Amino acid sequence: MLNTLSSLFFPPSCMACNDQLLETRRLLCNGCMTAMPRLDPHDRCPICFQWLEGPVCTDCKNKCEGFRMAAVFHYESPAAAFIKQLKYQGREELAPAMAAWMLIHYHDLNFPWPDAIIPVPQSFPRRLVRGYNPSSQLAVALSKLMKVPLMQPLRRMWKAFPQAGKGAKERVKMSQDEFRLRSQTDLADKTLLLIDDVITTGTTIKRCSKTLQLAFPRKVCALGFCLA
Ligand SMILES: [Zn+2]
Ligand SMILES: [Zn+2]
Repeated sequence: MLNTLSSLFFPPSCMACNDQLLETRRLLCNGCMTAMPRLDPHDRCPICFQWLEGPVCTDCKNKCEGFRMAAVFHYESPAAAFIKQLKYQGREELAPAMAAWMLIHYHDLNFPWPDAIIPVPQSFPRRLVRGYNPSSQLAVALSKLMKVPLMQPLRRMWKAFPQAGKGAKERVKMSQDEFRLRSQTDLADKTLLLIDDVITTGTTIKRCSKTLQLAFPRKVCALGFCLA
């Protein structure tokens, strides 16, 4: 699948380290490819995806019923190169390859098959500056691969400022009430898959999930390309 997708474009050099590629139809050199292991779900809490030794972490023991969160890679090179190029250099053509990795990972996670795929939305000022939303691009690509409908029932309110450079406490404070549910969204009894490019503290994803719960879905799962 990755080969087919990457055949859509032929970068002359490795995405992550810029080394010359010996074969075309590749995104990464052999060195970078082997330096990009997916995160092992078995080492992690099935609910919040924190690393742990026991079956469920103490944070999650008595709550988050019906919620699952996971990510494919650590936010470090080479996986981080994909995020940076998609996010800051507008390389939209990378989204299908990234979505393919997410789909492979999704199968390994044993999450239930979703009825709808939902991107974590961007606030209006952010969209103005950047012109696109990387979570949305990943969600669109994944929706095509999985043949699962894309839905955009969430709105992110204006007061949601960019999170970069803020402490964890500050982020929690800033993200209060930042998401709203669009009216006339029928999510009742549906299994939903939330998509984000990078999961940092998980606060944003959990807020989205909480907002979606207002529409009584059966289950909400979340998948990020990277875990920072
Ligand atoms: Zn490389
Ligand atoms: Zn947990």
